[in-house]
Amino acid sequence: MSIITTSNRMLSVQPHPILIIEDSLAIVMLMKEYLNALGYYDIQTASAGKEGMQLFENLVKANTFPIVFLDYNLPDVDANVVLPHILKIKPETKIIIATALEKGEQEVKDVIMHGAYLYLQKPIRFDNIQNVIKILEDEFNAAKEQTAKVKEQIDSILKPTFVTLNRIAELCNTSGEKALDYLKELESTGKVISLNNVEETSCSNCGSVLIEKDSNFDVSNGDYHCLRCNKRFEASKAKKIMTKAFRIKAKYNFQAGSTQHRYSY
Ligand SMILES: [Zn+2]
Repeated sequence: MSIITTSNRMLSVQPHPILIIEDSLAIVMLMKEYLNALGYYDIQTASAGKEGMQLFENLVKANTFPIVFLDYNLPDVDANVVLPHILKIKPETKIIIATALEKGEQEVKDVIMHGAYLYLQKPIRFDNIQNVIKILEDEFNAAKEQTAKVKEQIDSILKPTFVTLNRIAELCNTSGEKALDYLKELESTGKVISLNNVEETSCSNCGSVLIEKDSNFDVSNGDYHCLRCNKRFEASKAKKIMTKAFRIKAKYNFQAGSTQHRYSY
């Protein structure tokens, strides 16, 4: 029996590109070396704040969204200028502030409060960088898993009849925005067809579209019952909303036999 081992570190996620904004060349070299050892090779560097902001802007324009290691003190502008600038361009950017200041100091508390993701104590040590990367990878993995779950749910909800975006989002317990990202992806590959300005009836109380005709009331009156907040209301009080709707192209049935269960609402 032979056991094959490999010295290559197995990355659980695709390594993200990295931008280091740091004026000390020695520290840049050290960080690069550590990051390389952790499997990260796509690394860009800037030695001043303004240069870093420009480089970040260029990367985003080129559809590259780096993790940013930002030195607190820079020769031209400090982290309090660079950080909000980067977050304004791309709010979900993970910015790690590197500083010799202690974590409890007011300056550090301020940048964390203003959206820095993590704090890296100088002098830079390998295990510190490793910890930061581990936290980032765990978070990216969790986000990826969650996205995969939502995609799977959306796949199972799409039918050959139109389903509104609000309903898809509510059934998958996600935001309309996130659902739309994936639905647009499906649309661009020709798997689904969209329809604009579809009227959907929603709850007069909570706005949910998960409502049904209420059989406990006089059905002829067409009263509704909200499955989300449990409120009963007259059909005339129901809120009408306009939304997009999607249906799957018949040949792309995600689930075998799903056409047997006609979607009704
Ligand atoms: Zn409701």
